[in-house]
Amino acid sequence: MAKSLLAGNWKMHGTAESAAQLASDIADGLTLEAPETIVFPPLVHLPLVIAALADRPAIAVGAQNVSQYPEGAYTGEVSAQMLANLGCRYVLVGHSERRTLFGETDQLVAEKFAALQGAGLIPILCVGETLDQRQQGLTLEVVKRQIDAVVARVGLEHVCQSVVAYEPVWAIGTGETATPEQAQEVHAYIRGQLTERGQSTRLLYGGSVNADNAAALFAQPDIEGGLVGGASLQAQQFLKIAQQMVEQG
Ligand code: PEP
Repeated sequence: MAKSLLAGNWKMHGTAESAAQLASDIADGLTLEAPETIVFPPLVHLPLVIAALADRPAIAVGAQNVSQYPEGAYTGEVSAQMLANLGCRYVLVGHSERRTLFGETDQLVAEKFAALQGAGLIPILCVGETLDQRQQGLTLEVVKRQIDAVVARVGLEHVCQSVVAYEPVWAIGTGETATPEQAQEVHAYIRGQLTERGQSTRLLYGGSVNADNAAALFAQPDIEGGLVGGASLQAQQFLKIAQQMVEQG
């Protein structure tokens, strides 16, 4: 599979100035062969990052979260249409921090996915098991359940038009990465689940990816790209990861 997509999740980090600077440093450093690149700044920094990248079509901008509702009395929420109007193209759904820290269920993730589709945005559906689930041998079952909830809500073809990121919860922000073999096993399983039913989609790996481990992960046949958290906050690290993807073809 071509290594085609690199996404940087900035989480709740940075100031207005640092966000604009990071966006332009990444844009300046990307080579012509670089994979499609997306940055996910904090919500309030979206307009300034979109403005900073206005003449840089090589980088898309996405949001880290969305409301499941189209509009209404939902204090503090932001709708899919509002994100689309700002100029976002992608939105993360089902990130493990949303699932574990904010109680998002498979059903809520599916509703958010549907809301994005309605607004013409591309969801990046994050799935993955906790350490406990892995140790109990439940990894594939958990990932299947998380994907099936979305398939049941929107239909297989719409999941296949999106991006799926396998992010083992125990590897996110911990410095501990799945081995390339562990990641490949789950990616092959997800691809099998989706192709078995007649479709295929873009599959990313996420979980403490950095410039040192990226090459081995991207060498795996079913890993088409990465969703990077911590290492996306330093332009040079992120650009090195992009370069590793180019080298893995
Ligand atoms: C993430 O936030 O999706 C992520 C993978 O974070 P990190 O790279 O820091 O583990």
